[in-house]
Amino acid sequence: MAGNWKMNVDHVQATALVQRLAWTLRDAKHDPASVEAVVIPPFTDLRSVQTLIEGDKLELGLGAQDVSAHEPGARTGEVAASMLARLGVQYVVVGHSERRQYHGEDDALVAAKAAKVLEHGMTPIVCLGEQLEVREAGEHVADCIGQLDGSLAGISAEDLPKVVVAYEPVWAIGTGKVATPEDAQEVCAALRARLADAHGAEVADAVRVLYGGSVKSSNVAAIMAGEDVDGALVGGASLDAGEFAGIVTGGA
Ligand code: PEP
Repeated sequence: MAGNWKMNVDHVQATALVQRLAWTLRDAKHDPASVEAVVIPPFTDLRSVQTLIEGDKLELGLGAQDVSAHEPGARTGEVAASMLARLGVQYVVVGHSERRQYHGEDDALVAAKAAKVLEHGMTPIVCLGEQLEVREAGEHVADCIGQLDGSLAGISAEDLPKVVVAYEPVWAIGTGKVATPEDAQEVCAALRARLADAHGAEVADAVRVLYGGSVKSSNVAAIMAGEDVDGALVGGASLDAGEFAGIVTGGA
């Protein structure tokens, strides 16, 4: 269960949010061996969150929301994968629909970023999902498979099992319109079947497939009932410690 804070929460607020989350999970007797909980703050918060996780031995993973496809150098405003790895970051979101929509990122760039993340020993969370008009045209499965192929292009069979794929229908992100459990399962199953066709069942089974789009503590159990849904990528609801803890424990 991964909580993407997006461009919210400064580094002081981040400390309070992570502490509240850790206490709530502890009170709820959350078992980190059964469900992994990951926080994905903005870049400016990573150091303070990492210090807290390490210092207080919190059972939380740490993720970043984006990364450069390039090695360190003259790339003003970008953050290199090596810098994130050095900060103790374990997961990096690549290809979030907000990056694709507002920053013109395409599958080729997403694949290059995912490769960089892997090269530096971290796990990419590769996001993909269809726009509303694509779903209405009944082309969502083909569209998502196309994005999967493009966004994982060039990643070796050896590295693929380390990848996390997040199916996030664009029309369900931040809108309160959650896909039905059947919608989520349909696409997650199709993505896994594609991975199995291309790379074999062992690789496909190892890849964790998440659903994202208006997940809350009240709907997580139904979504997680889908056989091919291994977890959730959560936006808005991850900004509330109690709600995100409810998602983590409710998805067990
Ligand atoms: C997201 O940003 O990845 C997301 C799923 O957002 P929300 O949960 O707010 O729909």
